[in-house]
Amino acid sequence: MYTEKIKEFIESHKDEMTELLGRLVAVRSVQGEAEEGYPFGRKPAEALEIMLEQCFSSGFNVENVENYVGTAEYGENPALGILCHLDVVPEGDGWEADPYTMRIDAESGKLIGRGTIDDKGPAVAALYALKAVKELGIPLKKGVRLLFGTNEENGSADLAYYRKKRDLPPMVFTPDGEYPVINAEKGMIRVYFSAEMKDDEEIAQINAGSVVNAVPGRCRVVYRSEDEEGITVDYNGIPAHASTPAKGDNAITRFLSEYSGENELFIHLGELFPHGELNGRSCGLGFSDDISGEMTCVLSMLNTEEGAVRGAIDIRFPLDRKIGEIREIICGSLEGAGFTVDSAEGTDPHCTDESSEFVQSLLRVYERLTGEKGRSIAIGGGTYVHEIEGGVAFGAEFPGVDYNMHGPEEFITVGELMLNARMIAEAITELCT
Ligand SMILES: [Zn+2]
Repeated sequence: MYTEKIKEFIESHKDEMTELLGRLVAVRSVQGEAEEGYPFGRKPAEALEIMLEQCFSSGFNVENVENYVGTAEYGENPALGILCHLDVVPEGDGWEADPYTMRIDAESGKLIGRGTIDDKGPAVAALYALKAVKELGIPLKKGVRLLFGTNEENGSADLAYYRKKRDLPPMVFTPDGEYPVINAEKGMIRVYFSAEMKDDEEIAQINAGSVVNAVPGRCRVVYRSEDEEGITVDYNGIPAHASTPAKGDNAITRFLSEYSGENELFIHLGELFPHGELNGRSCGLGFSDDISGEMTCVLSMLNTEEGAVRGAIDIRFPLDRKIGEIREIICGSLEGAGFTVDSAEGTDPHCTDESSEFVQSLLRVYERLTGEKGRSIAIGGGTYVHEIEGGVAFGAEFPGVDYNMHGPEEFITVGELMLNARMIAEAITELCT
């Protein structure tokens, strides 16, 4: 067992790890304009460059695949891939200080800045985990490859490109999800639909929802009136991620449930999406399975524009269903209600056997280092390994903590940064010796 030695190594590199994370956070690696050699703009590539330099000077074999994905390898014939990403979502509002100057809160141990938990902190942890294995001379039978992507937040085109050029190791985990282990992810389909809207006697305008993967928190409807301006009514709900609609309250379906006009489009849409129904039963869906539970079906956008009304739906479906079947049902329901489906794209579910030696090894590591019971979990969202057969998410979020991921004041604590590194180092030891 190398538990103590790894712990000592990581603790003695605490300041180095924090310093490297600060340098990565300082690069605003949000997706930018594509340029020759920079598929996602200059900034994600700049963050990758910093990381690969560190990997190189740590003695690992480094490769940059055209600024899509960079890798660092240790040992022959890599059997394990550890997949992180160095791009971030935009900062948004609400920060107490510059999101790209990492702050250290001495009292709580929080490292605050964009990308600290998602996913630059875990990337630093992965590097120091591999450094620990190398410097401690832990003999590996199989090699390890760290992978640093640059487009996770905008559709993972980085990984798709990389996989065309290189094979992945047979085992892959990403520290870009939650502990203990995420092994099951529902299928997903996003449907965009529309209908011609002739001059409505009552409604001049509807605006609700700006992204397809969120429960809308407000639906603004402008009713016609005698004067030019009309009467604006805001139907309020509670925003939430579309994979967890029970945490929110849908403002669009609230509007539809109160609609008493004559427009057949809104009457029928209200029938397909009764307020409070979350599993799409009225659309002909409503499936569930034992592992991932109830499916979700969220009417997430509804907007009028130039003689048309356009809407969007986010659906997360069970592990035992295929996208084709779900598509056929939802398209049939929408067409029956008088709408045209403009697109309906998504992905099949993802499930890795929880009894596999791979998953069981990761759970053992989690139990050893936290003293908590390890178990595999199913989620409605998709992680970075959604398209990778046999892949799982292992960390980096610990259960019950809200890290403000994608929000203001995103953080990881110094303690968690180090615990992540130890977790990954022990996973390498467990899987590759
Ligand atoms: Zn992420």
